[in-house]
Parts: sequence; C-alpha cells; structure tokens
Amino acid sequence: MRVSIKLKFSLFLAVLLILAVSVLSYVVLRGVERNQQAQTEGYLNQHIKTVNLRVKQTFYTGTRLEPQVFMSQRGRGLAVELAGFTGLEVTLYDAKGLQVGTSVQSDPAPGNQEVKDALSYALQNKIAYQSKGDSMLYLAPLQGPEEQMGVVQLHYSLKSNQAFLSTLQNLFLTTGAAVLILSFIIGYLYFNRAVAAIRRLKQAAEEIQHADYIPAPPIKRKDELGELAQGIYFMSREIESNIAAKDEEQRKLQLAIQKLQALEQQQKQYIGNISHEFKTPLTSIKAYVDLLNMYDDDPKLLLEAKVSIAKETQRLYEMVEKVLQLTALEKYDFESQAEVLEVSESLRDICGRMSGKAERYGNTIQLDVKPAQIWIDKESFMHIFINLLDNAIKYNVPNGTIHIHNEIRDHRVWITIRDTGIGIPQESRDKIFEPFYTVNRDRSRQSGGTGLGLSLVRNLVEKQNGTISLLDLEGEGSAFQLSFPIRA
Ligand code: ADP
Repeated sequence: MRVSIKLKFSLFLAVLLILAVSVLSYVVLRGVERNQQAQTEGYLNQHIKTVNLRVKQTFYTGTRLEPQVFMSQRGRGLAVELAGFTGLEVTLYDAKGLQVGTSVQSDPAPGNQEVKDALSYALQNKIAYQSKGDSMLYLAPLQGPEEQMGVVQLHYSLKSNQAFLSTLQNLFLTTGAAVLILSFIIGYLYFNRAVAAIRRLKQAAEEIQHADYIPAPPIKRKDELGELAQGIYFMSREIESNIAAKDEEQRKLQLAIQKLQALEQQQKQYIGNISHEFKTPLTSIKAYVDLLNMYDDDPKLLLEAKVSIAKETQRLYEMVEKVLQLTALEKYDFESQAEVLEVSESLRDICGRMSGKAERYGNTIQLDVKPAQIWIDKESFMHIFINLLDNAIKYNVPNGTIHIHNEIRDHRVWITIRDTGIGIPQESRDKIFEPFYTVNRDRSRQSGGTGLGLSLVRNLVEKQNGTISLLDLEGEGSAFQLSFPIRA
C-alpha cells in the first residue's frame, strides 16, 4: 500500500509532539506530587510540634503522674483537645502501643497491619506515615520527661492534593489531544507544500526524460529542495547542450558524407568528360589517317588532313595542358611565388599580347585602369586574364569591344572585364565555372574551346585570395568581376 510522504511526516510530527507533551506532563506531575508531599510533611511536622508542646504542658501542670499512667488517664481528653487545636483527627498511643484516646468517631482502619507496622516504627522514636486512598496517617513520637511517652497519630485528608493533581492531569490530557490534532493539521498543511514542490521536481525530471528540457529551475526555494531544483536545471542544460553538440556533429558528419559523395560524383563526371573530350579530336585524326591510308595520292585530301590534324592536335595539346594545370592546382599546395604586381601595368601587358587575336576577330580592347598594387603570383595573374580576354574575344561579335576597368574599395582592387559578345544565358550562369561546361559545344569547339578555361580561372583566383563572379547584365554581352586584396 502506498502511503503518501506528507501523511507519514504529519503522523511523525504528531507522534513526536505527543511524546514531548507526555514526557513534560510526567515530569511536571511528579514534581507537583513531590512538592505536595513536602508541603504536607512540613504542615504535619508543625502540628506535631504543637501537639508535643501541649502534651508536655498538660503533663507538667497537673498532678505529677507516671508517663504511662498519664497517657492512659488523660489520653482520651487530650486527643479531643488536640483535634480542636490542629483541626485534624488525632489518636494517641502510650509507650506500649496501646490506643489511649482518639477524636475519631469510627477508626477508618482499626487493627490494620500496615498501621501497626507504622506504629511500631513510630514507637522507636521515629516519624512514620502511611497513606491509603484519599487519607494519610502521620505518626510521630510524643516526648516524655526522660524518654518517649507515646505516639501521636494525625489523620490527614489528601483529597484536595489529589483533586489538584487530577485537574493537572486532565489539563495535560486535553492539551496533549489538542496538540496531537493541531500538529497533525499544521504538519499536513506544511508538508503538503513540500510535497507539491517534490511533485514539481518529479515532473521536471520526467520532462527531461522525454527530451523536453526545462528553461528555468522548476521551483524557487531557499532550502535543500531549492538546491535540488537548481541541480536539476543545470543537469537539464548540460544534457541539452551535449545532445545539441552531438546533433551538430552528426549534421556536420552528414554534410561531409554528402560532400564526399558529390565529390565522387564530380570526379566520375570529370573523368567521363575528359575521355569524351579527348575522343572527339582523336576520332577526327583517326578518320583522316584511315582516309589517307586509302587515298594517299589525293593532294586535296592530304592538304585538308594536314590542316585538320594540326588543329585537332593543337586542341588536344591545350586540353592536356589545362587538365594538368587543374590537377596540379587541386592535388598540390600551390607553390605561390607571390610578389608585388602593378595591376595597370600587367593588364596593359596582357592586352598587348592579346591585341593580335582581338584584331583578327575585329574586336577592340579598351583599357581604363588606375594604378594599384597587389601581392600575387604573376604567372597566375597572367593565366587568369589571358583566359578571360580570350573568352571575351572568342564569344564576341564582329566589331565588338572589350572594356577593362578597375576601382579600389574595401582594401581590394576590383577589376571588371566586360564584352559586347553573345552573353551567357540565365540558365547557364551557375554552371560556367564547372569543368568541361560549355553553353554551345559547337561554337566552343569551333573557337578551340575546351570548357576548362573558367574552371581553371576560378581555381587560380581562389588560390590567390581573390573572388570572381559573373555580373548580371541588363544589356548584351557578359562581364566578369574579380577582386584581390591590395598590398598594405
Ligand atoms: P571554353 O574553352 O569553352 O571557352 P570556358 O571554361 O572558358 O571554356 O568557358 C565555359 C563556357 O562559358 C564557354 O564554353 C562559353 O559558352 C561560356 N563563356 C565563357 N566566357 C564567355 C563570354 N565572355 N561570353 C559568352 N560566353 C562565355
């Protein structure tokens, strides 16, 4: 059977208090009893002295008699007289223990053995008393001229003492009962509050068990329960952060796995693309070789084969070159031979080199650059802008222009290369930096493109702490914007 903790505590408190009241009432009652006894003895001793004085007075003032004779002759009268003095019933005995007089109408315990014992004790010149029910017999020696003359017995009523004790006892009993009931009620109410707090703690523990972490301590108290609530709150926070850290780690791991899978996919695609791109010029070369084997005396075919094989070989060469460059960039930590480079001068130099090709395509290059110094690997800078200019020429229209300009802001030099060419369709914007991606394969091939140029450019730019982005142009043509940190 499940007994509530508040009931147990309330009962415990009630029992404890009732125990305390019982011990207290026992001690008090015993004390009162002892005090009453001492007072009674004092009171009776006082009377014994008076009795002795009166007996002596009577003995010495009358005719001189033997103590024994005196007692037997005057005992009765003295007993009545002394009862009048003391206000108590008095019985007198002579030195032999014989009753010689009494004020009592009827002796309450005549011949009682206990009274006889007390009497023989008092006859040895000692005080003896004996109580029974609500009365007490007090026996004391009566002194004669030389020795003990007899014994006086006072009858004392204990009624008032006993009544006082019983009133006290009743008071303690009522108080005890009231304390029991009150302490139970108060204890119950008090422990009810404590139990409500414990219940709240239990609920918080259950919430944590179901991963419902608590935002604050479940209760606020300045005692052990309050400390326990704080402890539960800290534990909840610790578990929550540990689980969050684990989740975060798992999420990162998942991301890493996804990246690796994407990388693997890219790798496979890359290898597939390389094989495909290599196969096309090789197929063309092989076709010419086969034709030449069949018609080796055809001068027209010979000329055509020479031109085509040279063109395809050049394409193969460029492709191998770029693949090797890309692989080297990804495989090894780029050996950067960074040095100070004057942007305007270098761009002017690159434009000079590309001017021949631009003229052949009927394009004009406009250079509008301010001096700026950057810290970069010269070779990489050259590769980046030759590739971009090459594209701007290849994908331009006859009589088109290529405009290059720069500006300095946010501690970087921003270079924009803009052409009036065919532009890049919206759907291809995200893909043009991927290896082997071309918007129009035929056009790209015609102009000797491989689809590797922009991929190589982006790799080189990033290795030099630069950025590259394709600007969103309203009008025709395309524009790439690059930025590099300027030299401090
Ligand atoms: P490709 O060797 O084919 O030029 P790139 O990687 O340099 O390869 O360019 C990828 C593709 O992006 C090109 O095939 C072309 O379709 C497109 N592209 C690059 N630059 C330009 C440009 N300036 N104008 C229009 N299209 C461009």
